[in-house]
Amino acid sequence: MSDIRVRFCPSPTGNPHVGMIRTALFNWAFARHVGGTFVFRIEDTDAARDSQDSYLALVDSMRWLGLDWDEGPEVGGPFGPYRQSERMGIYAEVVEKLLEAGFAYRCYCSASELEAKRELATSEKRTPGYDGSCRELSQEQVADFLSQGREPVIRYRMPGTDFTWNDLIRGEVTFQAEHVPDFVLVRANGEPLYTLVNPVDDAMMNITHVLRGEDLLSSTPRQLALFEGLTAVGVAQLTPAYGHLPYVMGEGNKKLSKRDPESSLAMYRSKGYLPEALLNYLALLGWSMGNDIEFFSPKELTEAFTLERVNPNPARFDLKKCTSINGDWIRHISEADLCDRLVPFMESSGVTSANITMEERALLARVVPLIQERLDALDAAPALVEFLFIPAEEVIIDPALWTNESAQVLEVARRALAEVREWNAEAIQAALRDSLVDGLGLKPKLAFGPVRTAICGQKISPPLFESMEILGKEESLLRVENGRVHALARPLSE
Ligand code: GLU
Ligand code: ZN
Repeated sequence: MSDIRVRFCPSPTGNPHVGMIRTALFNWAFARHVGGTFVFRIEDTDAARDSQDSYLALVDSMRWLGLDWDEGPEVGGPFGPYRQSERMGIYAEVVEKLLEAGFAYRCYCSASELEAKRELATSEKRTPGYDGSCRELSQEQVADFLSQGREPVIRYRMPGTDFTWNDLIRGEVTFQAEHVPDFVLVRANGEPLYTLVNPVDDAMMNITHVLRGEDLLSSTPRQLALFEGLTAVGVAQLTPAYGHLPYVMGEGNKKLSKRDPESSLAMYRSKGYLPEALLNYLALLGWSMGNDIEFFSPKELTEAFTLERVNPNPARFDLKKCTSINGDWIRHISEADLCDRLVPFMESSGVTSANITMEERALLARVVPLIQERLDALDAAPALVEFLFIPAEEVIIDPALWTNESAQVLEVARRALAEVREWNAEAIQAALRDSLVDGLGLKPKLAFGPVRTAICGQKISPPLFESMEILGKEESLLRVENGRVHALARPLSE
């Protein structure tokens, strides 16, 4: 076990999205690679925006993906609680210490005063930001503000120096002092802000490495400054190293947004992307295994994952590539495994019973080898195989699929099929080839097309002869005959 401790600390607002999961994944993979500890923390201090549903969706998503955490909600750990909403007393104590030691102070400026200062600074071409006017208030001034009914916020006193750190991913990063003014830690109503609670928890949970999205880069100088105060008052034993993961870009060179449909984790789950495939793809958003290897298991990922291979340049989210990796994964797993994973999709689609029966399951197991090669996502399976789960009379055929020759082709096919003794794909194929291709002189596509339509009711299907083998002789003959009647009844076209 190493002393390395990382954390994933989402706010439970809205639905989990891929950017967030990419952050979780990199932290998890790093922790697993070095044998460190992966802490899962819930940053739910914003009562207006946080929700229990969102929290549950987060926990559920992490479990579905197999991103197991060593400390955090549901599993506990020595630095709990791991939901910030349960840590309010801790933050109040820390703020007291910071106030007492002079690292923080009360600011009584009103919103309109702050706005006026901002405008003035902008008009004088100075960097707008709090001017520190409440840093050294006299007792009389404070009494005066209080008598006016003002309620103070609590600000952190920035040291006025530039901040430089060696970013684990971006190398040396510097922020100039004037760009990081004294910032608010606690609102006037007593609510502690992200700027306070996030570093306090990192400090108290002994986090050694903070890996997070580049959008948080500008909060790092404040957090480093706050760590100086936290260290001085004995709350922090160490200051973490920071690494900022590259942006994930979506369509048209814009940052992938939570609102883009392809960023919703739930979408991938409901479409039947395998969790392994999603992790595989998300790992490629800013990291590479090297040697052009782009297909790997979660285990291979954790074995290979180092921060040196994280690329600071923006990564591009490519849904096509994600889907193609999913297809690779569907082909990679065993038939039995694929069968298990298809069950919920079969059940919810209504193609099988809502609680799949033994017979339906046995049938599905026979069908899996026919479709494994053709699936990009599991949710495509039910429509593709439905014709195998319904009786002949429920097969619905679009009359537009018939041609003038279809009825005749089916009549010849029916007679040839009736002669087949050993009902298997090979024999079925031979009978149809002999009678239609050789006998009628049709090209294979024209010969087998009407048979496929009669059997499957659709133009695209799993392999035809194997499907007919599964349906059985009697059922197949019935469908061919039904098809012939249906084709005859269609209005003739010129
Ligand atoms: N709760 C913050 C967020 O979801 C965490 C940021 C951080 O990793 O420091 O953006
Ligand atoms: Zn002030």
